Amino acid sequence: MIETDDMEFAPRIITPDNTPEDSEIEITLRPQTLNEYIGQDKVKQNLAIYIEAAKRRGEPLDHVLLYGPPGLGKTTLSAIIAHEMGVNLRITTGPAIEKPGDLASLLTSLNDNDVLFIDEIHRLSRAVEEILYPAMEDRVIDIILGKGPSARSIRMDLRPFTLIGATTRAGQLSSPLRDRFGVIQRLELYNQEQLTDIIRRSSMILGIPCTADGAKEIAGRARGTPRIANRLLKRVRDFADVMGNGKITQEIASIALSRLEIDKLGLDSLDRRMLEMIIKGYNGGPVGLETLASALGEEAVTLEDVCEPFLMQLGFLGRTPRGRCATNLAYKHLGYKIPDNNSGQMTFGNP
Ligand code: ADP
Repeated sequence: MIETDDMEFAPRIITPDNTPEDSEIEITLRPQTLNEYIGQDKVKQNLAIYIEAAKRRGEPLDHVLLYGPPGLGKTTLSAIIAHEMGVNLRITTGPAIEKPGDLASLLTSLNDNDVLFIDEIHRLSRAVEEILYPAMEDRVIDIILGKGPSARSIRMDLRPFTLIGATTRAGQLSSPLRDRFGVIQRLELYNQEQLTDIIRRSSMILGIPCTADGAKEIAGRARGTPRIANRLLKRVRDFADVMGNGKITQEIASIALSRLEIDKLGLDSLDRRMLEMIIKGYNGGPVGLETLASALGEEAVTLEDVCEPFLMQLGFLGRTPRGRCATNLAYKHLGYKIPDNNSGQMTFGNP
């Protein structure tokens, strides 16, 4: 029997952020072409046209901003864009570019039409961001040599390139930066059917026997996120190996996911604690995010980036100017009696 220390498992298993354990498997599982990339149909259709047009003109693709919650395929999509354009991809993140000089050396090392991918682009410092404006617009960078009154600036031409920025928070991007992206695409959470396809594809690549029902069961609890779907597939495989004959069936998936404290809709213990706190601690809300975070002993950003997009998609959480509210659907799911005057009712109507 596998030891499942639930308290230790629960917070880790559903985080959509990349963990070292994910990195190794993600390289194998990353789709290489737009055709292999499942879901996000509108984004794919648009990109296919822009890529084709840029290739016909022999130009780089316009700069692209991808935004949406973590684990939805932004990095994967930028690798696909580079692959479809037949150019190299350089990957970095906003916090890794500390000084303007770091960005200057990245930009000057690119070949014609290469793709530079900057993850978490909203975390670039202002000084670094300012180097990006002329680079994106006029393909030049201004480098300051020396200090004080004798400082002078020299302008360097850059080769044509495409910047792909990814962010979980488009709202935090400064407007001069946002305005310099020609293509802005939002990635949506995936539905159960798309996640089932992703799990079936991954199980084939990894050689994990999995029935259609087994894949569907995992997909239904993966919070709309491919990264979580792939991670759950790996965890459920462990249960299938130990409890069965190695094949993931619906029954084994269901038992395994319950052991991991992920319920039928994909809520984990933090989601439930958050909703319960709003319901029991604040009469259903509204309650401010910071207050909620400190009551739960969690970071506000975790609640905002990890729990909220999913709970809102399910219609369990309402966001009002005065704070967060639990909706009637949330009361029902957690088995609480809905109060007559629940404020979530006003937002979402009666379940
Ligand atoms: P992000 O950059 O948005 O955090 P990633 O691009 O790293 O997300 O995606 C996480 C993992 O999920 C990838 O390794 C890939 O295996 C899988 N994945 C993401 N999107 C898709 C998709 N549309 N089709 C198939 N697999 C996907």
